[in-house]
Amino acid sequence: MLLKGEMMDAPLMISGILKHADNCHGDQEIVSRLPEDLSTHRYGYSDAHKRTRQLANALTRKLGIKESDRVSTIAWNTHRHFELYYGVSGIGAVIHTVNPRLDPAQIIWILNHAQSRAVFFDKTFAPLIDGIAKHCKTVKHWVLMADSSHLKDVQTKGIAYEDLIDDHKPDYDWPEFDEYAAAGLCYTSGTTGDPKGVLYSHRSTLLHAMACSAADVIGVGARGVMLPVVPMFHVNAWGIPYASPMGGAKLVMPGPRLDGAGLHEMIEEEKVNYVAGVPTVWLGLLQYLRENDKRIDSVERVLIGGSALPEALLRAFEDNYGVTMQQGWGMTEMSPLGTVNVPLAKHEDLSKDEMVRLKLKQGRLVYGVEMRIVDDEGTELPWDGKSSGHVHVRGPWIASGYFRGAGAEAFTDDGWMKTGDVAYMDSDGYMTITDRSKDVIKTGGEWISSIDLENEAMGHPDVAMAAVIGKYHPKWQERPLLIVQLQAGAEPNADSILEYLRGKVPKLWVPDGVEFIDEMPIGATGKILKTKLRDIYRDYQFPGTEGMEP
Ligand code: ADP
Repeated sequence: MLLKGEMMDAPLMISGILKHADNCHGDQEIVSRLPEDLSTHRYGYSDAHKRTRQLANALTRKLGIKESDRVSTIAWNTHRHFELYYGVSGIGAVIHTVNPRLDPAQIIWILNHAQSRAVFFDKTFAPLIDGIAKHCKTVKHWVLMADSSHLKDVQTKGIAYEDLIDDHKPDYDWPEFDEYAAAGLCYTSGTTGDPKGVLYSHRSTLLHAMACSAADVIGVGARGVMLPVVPMFHVNAWGIPYASPMGGAKLVMPGPRLDGAGLHEMIEEEKVNYVAGVPTVWLGLLQYLRENDKRIDSVERVLIGGSALPEALLRAFEDNYGVTMQQGWGMTEMSPLGTVNVPLAKHEDLSKDEMVRLKLKQGRLVYGVEMRIVDDEGTELPWDGKSSGHVHVRGPWIASGYFRGAGAEAFTDDGWMKTGDVAYMDSDGYMTITDRSKDVIKTGGEWISSIDLENEAMGHPDVAMAAVIGKYHPKWQERPLLIVQLQAGAEPNADSILEYLRGKVPKLWVPDGVEFIDEMPIGATGKILKTKLRDIYRDYQFPGTEGMEP
């Protein structure tokens, strides 16, 4: 029999983070751009805790929300959304964040699948709510996240958030319960098949937030001013709404202003020093900075993830704006963080080009996430910096299944989750993603990395965005087709782009065709939608292959 440690059995409760922030960082600010009128709202963590306790009373007494009920949000990053994160899970219910950029039909599907009891939404989404409300039979309450003066702009019968909480007192004792209880629910964007729900627990959320707080992960402390551009409807804004009050960082919430000008304004006004978001957002900010000759001198670090960091973006920000770009990798099923790229002491002497190559890797494993790389037969591959295979992960903040049963095929019999990514590891634990399993281009016997090709193509001065998909080729089975959205004012010139790629990538990788598209299709989480591109170029044939025999 093992000797048992004699330590307290204190459950890891999400409400505990807010209690701590109230006690220790009470006047640290949360600043929000409000969706209903774009005004700025500002208060401290103590005020947030007080209003969150009012909300807890309102949820239980007025709306009749019970343990494990799902309460949904369709909302931007604001202080009210922050209060819902803590209030809903604090009472033992489940905060279910919905991505408003999905098709209305998908949103209806998700709300019904989640059996949502109440939906809290920003005024921006009133037309969406008016269109979907009648299809959501389990939803008993529609709450507009504003004061009652805005109710006249919503047809769906509902209540205003400010009235709802005003009617209730702030005396509420957060209950303690099983830390394995569900706390949050987030659906993957479902680019293939129906969306799948990932159900986080109090324990997984707390452990993930603590891991995020480590120095080489997100590591924001009480002097940090954090701007999560990544939406709270996208994998809990990468855990930032939990890690920031834990460490006492100031939170700057951009509301609906995710455009270059809006972000720049908040960065300047609030002296933001840490920003987190997907690459497409940075492209928008970069364009704004260039066109208006503006700077972002307060920003020290940028965490960029969700899709690969393009080299041109890395260089543009690091060389011209003095910020450190850190790439991170993760997914909804991983809460989301799995790796973050921070150079080691031994990398100090690297040349600029070598450092760029290092930073284009997805990063080093965060403690708490275990990983293995396997080939098609399931045999484990060495971490030798070249053996590429399927990425499997396991750990306390990684999904063990999907809500209400779907998607069992994503899990192995021996307890790992298949990420759907293809990558290699090196001996320092840096991961390099070469593709998503479904995007790999198999040409003859070789695999071509669409990510690497896209990255190189983005370095051409005329290219604003690049995507590579595999298309049928009678001789090679599949060859890469490069699809390009040009920079404003640039003329299409396929030869110039192909010439640029020659010498930068292996000969076999040079695309067999280049197509120009006016606007790259972007999905609900800000990534290029390859499924849409495959539809658009369904009948595409490489030049010179007409009539060629396989
Ligand atoms: P979805 O599958 O709906 O896009 P996520 O937003 O959870 O859901 O995306 C997870 C996927 O995004 C990862 O499996 C990976 O393919 C991709 N991804 C995330 N971060 C990176 C990165 N830094 N580099 C390349 N791909 C990334």
